[in-house]
Amino acid sequence: MSLDVHIHVVRCDTPQCLAAFYATVTPGAPEGTAQQQAERIGWRITKHKPFDVWDDPFAPPEPEDLCPACQAGRGPVTATGTCCYCGGRTTVRTGTCRWCDRPQPEPARDRQETPQ
Ligand SMILES: [Zn+2]
Ligand SMILES: [Zn+2]
Repeated sequence: MSLDVHIHVVRCDTPQCLAAFYATVTPGAPEGTAQQQAERIGWRITKHKPFDVWDDPFAPPEPEDLCPACQAGRGPVTATGTCCYCGGRTTVRTGTCRWCDRPQPEPARDRQETPQ
């Protein structure tokens, strides 16, 4: 069975940050769909917004997309892993991301099953 979707990678614009969000986008989806998915899980997306949203004085002068870790002041992400929010390395023992500090909704894929 093959799923008819594309993977669109949203990357963080902080220099040296390796964070990435892998959005699944169906063919024909409008531009910015991947960015909307990223925004829903905590990314700050500014590149695909219309210009008239910039009515607040704290808006950055240059549009940039920021990962959850960088927004929390924990970035840049320098070790990649299985975090489904920022793509950073997670701490298996606590189940939270080392970078964005979020609990992971699913066990890390590389975690070993304990035989019963
Ligand atoms: Zn980042
Ligand atoms: Zn993370």
